[in-house]
Amino acid sequence: MNSIPPLDQEKLLYKLVIQFLIFCQGSHKLLEPHLLQIGKRLKSGASLNDLTPELQAVSKTLLHISKQNEANKEEDNTSERNAYLLQRLDELLAKSYVPMRFQQQKSALRQKIKNNTDDDQNFNNVIDSAIALLIDIKEYAVSEQNHIEGFLAELTNQLGIIEQHAEIVGQSNQLSMDHREALNSKISNELNGIRGSTDEADELTLLKNTTSEHLDHLMQQLIEHKQLEDDRQQQAQQQIALMTEKLQILETETEALRTKLKIEHDRALCDALTGLPNRLAYKDRIEMEANRWLRYRAPLSLVIWDIDYFKRINDNYGHKAGDKTLCLVGQIMVNNCRSTDFIARYGGEEFVMLLPNTHAHQALEMAEKIKDLIESSGFNYNGENINLTLSCGISDFSGEDQHDEVFVRADQALYQAKQAGRNRCMIYQNEMDEPEIKD
Ligand code: GH3
Ligand code: MG
Ligand code: MG
Repeated sequence: MNSIPPLDQEKLLYKLVIQFLIFCQGSHKLLEPHLLQIGKRLKSGASLNDLTPELQAVSKTLLHISKQNEANKEEDNTSERNAYLLQRLDELLAKSYVPMRFQQQKSALRQKIKNNTDDDQNFNNVIDSAIALLIDIKEYAVSEQNHIEGFLAELTNQLGIIEQHAEIVGQSNQLSMDHREALNSKISNELNGIRGSTDEADELTLLKNTTSEHLDHLMQQLIEHKQLEDDRQQQAQQQIALMTEKLQILETETEALRTKLKIEHDRALCDALTGLPNRLAYKDRIEMEANRWLRYRAPLSLVIWDIDYFKRINDNYGHKAGDKTLCLVGQIMVNNCRSTDFIARYGGEEFVMLLPNTHAHQALEMAEKIKDLIESSGFNYNGENINLTLSCGISDFSGEDQHDEVFVRADQALYQAKQAGRNRCMIYQNEMDEPEIKD
């Protein structure tokens, strides 16, 4: 069981180590590297346990040297040895790096060495002071190291935040690859600089100074980068605004073109005089209605109208009166049909009607009504009454009828109506049958 307290143990061992260092420094080539290493580690605050491998190496080397020297052992001379040791200690102190705050202790110690009298008490006193200084330096080194570690941890944390910011700024602004890479390499340069400084710096104050220089650089880089990105973003926004404006103009032009096209399309399908759908529009519509018939077989009637002796109206009252008559007839037809019926000016003084969901006999009833209305409309031109009558032929879809067949039948019925004296409506009847005539 060891009764010496740990601090005294440490002092004792330091004493041994330092005596040994002074004693052997430069006295044997084989020992020198080990001793330099121990000195270095002690300075950097190594504990006793940390020094075990070096001490073991020294022990081995000593064994080796002592075997070599066994043959010619010299007689011990304590006072000479002590003087030599102190001289070596002084040299060591003069050459070694000692932090600023221990400079006074160092000078006092060197003064003690100079004033040394040739007795053991004095010698031990000097050695104790040297040990006290070494322990103080070691403790200072340990606390300084803790400070540096804390400082570095905080620094790493701060840099992490800066890096995160840079990354977020980079993402949100959609940094261009070049800018981002340049920034990353600048950041990592500064970080390497900081790392390098922490490796090299011995003092916390010095380290803080160099580190804050690097941080200033880093901040400067970020500010420059932000400026660059702001400019780039502003340019992009201007570009977008320009594009949007161009797009709006294009959109307006497209809309105008669409309207124009629609007007022209409508115009192409519209009769300019009466405003009714024209023959082209009829062609579109009959195709659709015929297909509907083939699919659903709902009744569908076709009526062809022709104004009686229209040539005479033109001849007697003029072309203008003829035109007015055409408009009036169209108007009366529209006003007396269902909205689902389709009425077109087929050409000249001919009109056609497509009547969905209407059998031929129902179409005949409606046609009669219109014929009578027009006959009694009392149309006059420049105070003169104009007798106006129409005739029509009617046919409905049946069997496998195509449009042309129905049209031909309705046209034949119209011809029959004309033949029968005009001002009448007729449903097409098979030649074998008597056509149904109403007047
Ligand atoms: P019918 O009873 O046999 O049908 O005799 P109609 O005189 O009506 O027949 P015809 O086919 O001989 O004459 C049709 C006339 O319609 C000829 C043409 O001058 C006139 N016409 C055709 N289109 C127009 C038009 O847009 N305006 C005017 N004012 N007349 C037109
Ligand atoms: Mg005609
Ligand atoms: Mg006619």
